[in-house]
Amino acid sequence: MLTGRCLCGAVRFEIAGALGPVIYCHCSMCRRAGGSAFAANASVRKDAVKILSGSELLTEYKSSPTSYRQFCSRCGSPLFGGSDDSSITRIRLGTLDNAGGARSIAHIWTGSKSEWFQITDNLEQIDREPPESYCAPG
Ligand SMILES: [Zn+2]
Ligand SMILES: [Zn+2]
Repeated sequence: MLTGRCLCGAVRFEIAGALGPVIYCHCSMCRRAGGSAFAANASVRKDAVKILSGSELLTEYKSSPTSYRQFCSRCGSPLFGGSDDSSITRIRLGTLDNAGGARSIAHIWTGSKSEWFQITDNLEQIDREPPESYCAPG
């Protein structure tokens, strides 16, 4: 069982399923939402995520008509994101207490990468949206 929480600790959650591969998203929305060079995400089944506390603070921003980004309204930690019509949600990995050995496989949306960050690892780089399998739960 994986556990995680936001910065202030109000929103706590557990994940009963395995994480999908870790991908680093350099899209401009993830950069703005996290205030950093990229977002580190892994996919899990929505029904594997259980909010243990703070669900009243879990706030949603619709970044497109069918896309949501959920965050703690007290401390601002980004927590989950995805599409309303999908059974999968993306966890912002920095909020996990541990990631259960999940492995990173790729940088995505590198066509939108900031000019002040250099990718120096050997992971695959995809300039746009990744193949569907990259966003499958573990
Ligand atoms: Zn919080
Ligand atoms: Zn992104």
